[in-house]
Amino acid sequence: MRNTLATKLLFDLSQPGRRGAVFPKSDVPDQALDELIPRAHQSTSAPALPEVTEPEVIRHFVNLSTKNMSVDTHFYPLGSCTMKYNPKRHERLSALPGIVDMHPYRSVEDSQGMLELLFTMQAMLAEISGLPAISLQPAAGAQGEFTALLVSSAYFRDKGETRTKVLFPNSAHGTNPASAALAGFECVQLKSTAQGFVDLNELSAHLDQSTAVFMVTNPNTLGMFERDLPEIARRVHAVGGLVYIDGANMNAICGITRPGDFGGDMMHYNVHKTFTGPHGAGGPGSGPIAVRDFLGDYLPGPVVVRREGPGTSGVSSDSTLVYDLAVPARSIGRVRSFFGNVGILVRGYCYLRTLGAAGVRAMSENAVLNANYLLAKLKDVLPVPQGDRCMHEFVASARQLKEERGISAMDIAKRLLDYGFHAPTVYFPLVVPESIMIEPTETESRETLDAFAQAIRDIVREDPELLHQAPHETPISRPDEVRAARTPVLKWITSEG
Ligand SMILES: *Cc1c(COP(=O)(O)O)cnc(C)c1O
Repeated sequence: MRNTLATKLLFDLSQPGRRGAVFPKSDVPDQALDELIPRAHQSTSAPALPEVTEPEVIRHFVNLSTKNMSVDTHFYPLGSCTMKYNPKRHERLSALPGIVDMHPYRSVEDSQGMLELLFTMQAMLAEISGLPAISLQPAAGAQGEFTALLVSSAYFRDKGETRTKVLFPNSAHGTNPASAALAGFECVQLKSTAQGFVDLNELSAHLDQSTAVFMVTNPNTLGMFERDLPEIARRVHAVGGLVYIDGANMNAICGITRPGDFGGDMMHYNVHKTFTGPHGAGGPGSGPIAVRDFLGDYLPGPVVVRREGPGTSGVSSDSTLVYDLAVPARSIGRVRSFFGNVGILVRGYCYLRTLGAAGVRAMSENAVLNANYLLAKLKDVLPVPQGDRCMHEFVASARQLKEERGISAMDIAKRLLDYGFHAPTVYFPLVVPESIMIEPTETESRETLDAFAQAIRDIVREDPELLHQAPHETPISRPDEVRAARTPVLKWITSEG
């Protein structure tokens, strides 16, 4: 039988008079409360805090911590999110005293090691993107998009051009239009081709002198590589616009091709996706941006620069500064304090230095291999409208299952939790009905992929009526997710009301 104590709220466990800590008798003189806090500010009733013992508190939170799925506990094929394993070595390195105790207000002289790390990170991100100018500041991909769009605004303003529109395909991640709107642009959504690619005719029909930026994810959100990007870029550039590459899917192409080479003028990275920074629970993330030379002057400042001249091979004994801070000439200003979420940048730096150039390429090749392996194992039970091949993720569709047997993408996703797998992304991108977006990442073994494929094969044969009620084994089954997000009940209501 299930131990119901393990699923109760701390408040439900409360018993009057229970204590988790015992204080010794006070050995200092008593002082009247009124002398310390004016009566008007004193509460007339005791706070409604749970009264519980220390073991109850410990069990409560340890048990709660096991009810979540995470990369460390389960296969987590959440498409678009690149939920890859976070190497524990990098957690340890980023927690070294020299890193965590580093105060951002320490002098530049005293921060040479950290500045070298950040400078090298800038250089590696420039190399991988093919775009030379980097800002490490944005705290996540979405803020990177927003920052790059502000950079584009400043650039057009300096050129004396008024450009009001940002274009993106209807497969775009919701952050693309959100960032564009926040940056003050008008959003124009373009229809994709039947195969889910950018429609060149649709694009040309919307391009004109009012176009500021065309935003596109590559590989796109269907897990397919947009082969037409050089032509797309040619057309956007022909009207004076800029091409923004949403780099959330960089895991598929690192070391193989580069946004700067296939037409991008600006992009963001998601260090917490591609370069193994942990994500979840609201952050922290890291969304550095990379831009072309002519946009570098507008980046948020400061950036880390290396001084040329004597001593550049290391911090020399004559204390010649090697690394320094510089604010780009026409900077849009800060978007985040200091260098953003440095702890995540350190993890990404460790990851890139550990793998090296060949390793980074192998990472992407294996991510693509794993996704294609799963696609091949699943497509007969879960059709993939975009075809037989994918990049690092693919979008299957439960449309047929729904029509024929009433089994939805949501049913499959929910039932997978009972099988011990985190659900894939469902109902995104919107261009595929009943979409199930599966991204295994490169670190998963063949056995894990086989077990996941088998789980889906088993699930689609189950009784649809039971599937509608899945999951059966989790503490709660199907919360109203929208209501839970929009109007969360965060306050414990006492029995007295
Ligand atoms: C994750 C993601 C984003 C947003 O990145 P955050 O780091 O979550 O802000 C943008 N576009 C795509 C395609 C993504 O998958």
